[in-house]
Amino acid sequence: MREARVRKTKTVCTYCGVGCSFDVWTKDRKILKVEPRMEAPANQISTCVKGKFGWDFVNSSERLVKPLVRKEDRFVHVEWEEALDLVAGRLDEIRESHGPDAIACIASSKCTNEENYLMQKFARSVIGTNNIDNCSRYCQSPATWAMRNTMGYGGDSGSITDIARADLVVVIGANPAESHPVLSTRIRRAQKMRGQKLLVGDIRKNDLAARADLWVKPAPGTDLVWLAAVSNILLDRGWHDEAFVDRWVEGLSDWKESLAPYTVEYAEEITGVSRTELERVARMIRDADRVCFLWAMGVTQHTGGSETSAAICNLALATGQVGRPGTGVYPLRGHNNVQGAGDFGCAPDLLPGYQSVADESIRKKFAQAWGKELPTGPGYDNFTMIEKIHEGDLKALILKGEEIALVDANAGHVTRALEKLDFLVVQEVFLSETAKYADVVLPASPSLEKEGTFTNTERRIQRLSRVLSPLGDSRPDWEILVDLANRMGADWNYSHPKEILEEAVTLTDLMAGVTWERLDGYQSLQWPVHFDGSDTPLLYTDGFPRPGAKARFLPVSWTEPLRFSEEYDLHLNNGRMLEHFHEGNMTQRVPGLEEKVPKTYVEISPDLARERQISEGAQVRLVSPWGAVKLRAVVTDRVQGKELYIPMNDAGEGAINRLTGSHHDKHTRTPAYKELSVRMEVL
Ligand code: SF4
Repeated sequence: MREARVRKTKTVCTYCGVGCSFDVWTKDRKILKVEPRMEAPANQISTCVKGKFGWDFVNSSERLVKPLVRKEDRFVHVEWEEALDLVAGRLDEIRESHGPDAIACIASSKCTNEENYLMQKFARSVIGTNNIDNCSRYCQSPATWAMRNTMGYGGDSGSITDIARADLVVVIGANPAESHPVLSTRIRRAQKMRGQKLLVGDIRKNDLAARADLWVKPAPGTDLVWLAAVSNILLDRGWHDEAFVDRWVEGLSDWKESLAPYTVEYAEEITGVSRTELERVARMIRDADRVCFLWAMGVTQHTGGSETSAAICNLALATGQVGRPGTGVYPLRGHNNVQGAGDFGCAPDLLPGYQSVADESIRKKFAQAWGKELPTGPGYDNFTMIEKIHEGDLKALILKGEEIALVDANAGHVTRALEKLDFLVVQEVFLSETAKYADVVLPASPSLEKEGTFTNTERRIQRLSRVLSPLGDSRPDWEILVDLANRMGADWNYSHPKEILEEAVTLTDLMAGVTWERLDGYQSLQWPVHFDGSDTPLLYTDGFPRPGAKARFLPVSWTEPLRFSEEYDLHLNNGRMLEHFHEGNMTQRVPGLEEKVPKTYVEISPDLARERQISEGAQVRLVSPWGAVKLRAVVTDRVQGKELYIPMNDAGEGAINRLTGSHHDKHTRTPAYKELSVRMEVL
């Protein structure tokens, strides 16, 4: 028998928004090694443990390799023809009887830009609804809202290189060492090599907090208050950048007025951050020539997540820390392609390139290109979809690659909604918790088995090439969507993702100059990409894409976190862990990673452990108003006092969203995952 050939193929990591790219060496389906290269724009020769070793799930015996159809309450394998005929037929029936808005689609940040573009096109032009959303609703929608409303664009304002170049990095409610490991390495290196200063605002002593020049620990949900107090200090003492504000920013007096309640005294009382610390924060920002502001879900996943994000943007604008190398605002994208899913139109109110569905001329442009009249009003976001299912208005859901039964807040409420649906279709790699509720499960290929592009946290579009053939009868999501759309009356002739990308960029000025060829190998482009192929690593160097080229300060006001009854006496925080990705569907099927951290746990402070007589490894039950979970206790000083912390990567008994509720950010309806109190029982 002939020896299989060793192949080397370039791809892009699917595990976080840093967007590391590397070569994967394979022989048959065996992954021999992952090799990052100097020319990789975001990571050069680095990867983290997931990027390096996190791929064996592709050969898991649990992979879905044939379509599944529910018959008499159990799944049976069928051929693609039968499965797709059934899906098309049922969707047609539901649309006929209840109208197009009785159907919704959820796209995926794990899927390529081309697949996400097709999914929103499918929703809008085949089904006829704007009911399309993606998982940025669960994480960074509040940051996008704030950036669009202050500066104009909804993406990071600079590049990872700018973060490495800054004199001061301010990290608020983010844990890059575990969530964006290669980016965190860049910060650590800059600290060591050139004395970069680091300021962390976080309730937990994560890796960067432990190595920060200053770590402030505000009470949960009070970031806006201390940020507003720091803004007041800067403005009162004239430490802001007056020339920059005069030239480039409007709305100063309204913003100042909104800051009035947030005196230093008030901030000390509400946040627990002392006057000395607040003044030190202000001084560190004043004294640094180049400052980057980073934040993540510790800020956004609150009922006031959007306005706290705006408070960060305001602070960056007031101090002129935007539009120069080594400066900027960086909400760190969690999934590898959260940025791309939004860029390519998977939002209920925005077509690709952030063009409004309410704008008639925009709709006309898309209608002409797609040969279909398009729906006018905004559709349902992820949160509203669940409510609409419960109310009986939404009858069918099609989702790809999103584990909403575990990842949505208030999991019990979500799964009860899934049970109520008339028809649920899931495109997935494994039989996920969500897929278990489906009528039809379509086996999809993971990133290593497809071509396309991803867009990382710094707006960088990169191409991935097919490392392996799809396993069994599984197929890339774009192929599934093409076949489904054509069964429902479309005439889509795409034979390769390149053609989909070409169509998408002709409709969006933001990416006008993106071509497949310009993304060949390790080449990449950061949007906006002009027609001549020039791109924009740094935004706002010459003004803002807003009236008069001016940014604006947004007035802010603090939304007090939800109050729980005294019975729920412990605050529960949650986030990522280094070894696992998100709900764990992929990485928990990688033997090396699974052995290292097999089960999730709850972190308990030494003080609390002593008070409640809990020893390391004890079993505890956490109870919230919405559910209960059982976990192993880990006693650690990463958490203090009555704070608890659970990594979010458990698909089983310890899944955090069995505890979270449905309260959400007031502007974007992003669930307030971080506003949670529980009581603890020792078992
Ligand atoms: Fe890079 Fe993030 Fe993948 Fe790690 S998980 S290799 S940091 S993209």
